[in-house]
Amino acid sequence: MKDAIQLTGLSQPELVSFLETMGEPAYRGRQLFAALQHRRLCSFDEITDLPKDLRTRLNNVAKLATLTVQSQYLSDDGTRRYLMKTHDSLPVETVFIPEERRDTICFSSQSGCPLQCTFCLTAQLGLLRSLTAAEIVDQIRITLNDAYGTGVKPPRGTNLVAMGAGEPLLNLDQLLKALRVMSDPQGLHIVPNRVTVSTAGVVPRILELARISDRPHLAISLAAPTDELRNELMPINKRWPLEELLSACKAFEKTLKPGERLTFEYVMLAGINDSDEQARQLANLLNRHDIRSKVNLIPHNPAEPLPYRPSSDAVVERFKNILESKGVHTYVRRPRGQDIFAACGQLAARQTTLNTRVETNLVGAN
Ligand code: SAH
Repeated sequence: MKDAIQLTGLSQPELVSFLETMGEPAYRGRQLFAALQHRRLCSFDEITDLPKDLRTRLNNVAKLATLTVQSQYLSDDGTRRYLMKTHDSLPVETVFIPEERRDTICFSSQSGCPLQCTFCLTAQLGLLRSLTAAEIVDQIRITLNDAYGTGVKPPRGTNLVAMGAGEPLLNLDQLLKALRVMSDPQGLHIVPNRVTVSTAGVVPRILELARISDRPHLAISLAAPTDELRNELMPINKRWPLEELLSACKAFEKTLKPGERLTFEYVMLAGINDSDEQARQLANLLNRHDIRSKVNLIPHNPAEPLPYRPSSDAVVERFKNILESKGVHTYVRRPRGQDIFAACGQLAARQTTLNTRVETNLVGAN
């Protein structure tokens, strides 16, 4: 069933047309959409409101669940990491982050990643392949079912961040398709305004995203205030250097809604990019381009065997103060799920025995 159609990547109108090609009336498509996206069912057997014969026919041509959960890890801080597998046995990682106001799911857009950022563990996997829209939607369905119960509505809604493995803007078509499916009020009902996509700086795709009216929020991973250093840390900078990247950000800024800010992520690496001088360079760079933005400082998460250490709290605070003294809105991000390799830059399909590991063969099983 390798090439079977993946039903969870289809929007409601697409599912209706698909069932029409099988000779079924439109309401069957709507029923199936509700079963997949509202009730979040994961096997044809469970969709008992569809006739048995239709379920059998669907089972022959289509796939309902594209991912299986291999293992899951629970952090001391409540964060959960899911290590899933595609039908062709590639790793996909998703992280559930419980928060006071609204829980967040961090999902992957690719299995592995083609970018070679030196401070990120995912880079070591290389690109295995881009995920399909269904594989993106299924990460969310599986995580919601595990966190709240099958089909149970998240009590305070859900935020999504495309900050797991992969470069989302190198898989933009499938990502946007998944976001369209998930925004349906009769399904998951997670609207683009609740979604943040993070990019290492694929300039043409930033410009493309800016032209989409119903788009998600955007975050840019900077990691360095100069081309010289950024070329070293994030080789994508050689293709699209800082001036080009920030010009694209300026174009994107024109599409920001009132109150919305573009986010810059800055991973703090001790002795590499955290000096006072670099804080001033960063502030000057952002001020020169005059972009309505904020900076999130992320202390580097341990990622052995990578040769980096996180900046100390005192240094992060100092860096923040310099940025703020120059008018840059700055926040320090608290790492979540470090102990289970779930934090930023730690997703490398690790099967650790050090921390809580719950074997599961139930969630998302086909
Ligand atoms: N490829 C996209 C999506 C991945 S998001 C991007 O680069 O934006 C992952 C975020 O985690 C990025 O902001 C990245 O800079 C940051 N990051 C990567 N490795 C990290 C690490 N070891 N510690 C802290 N942050 C890290």
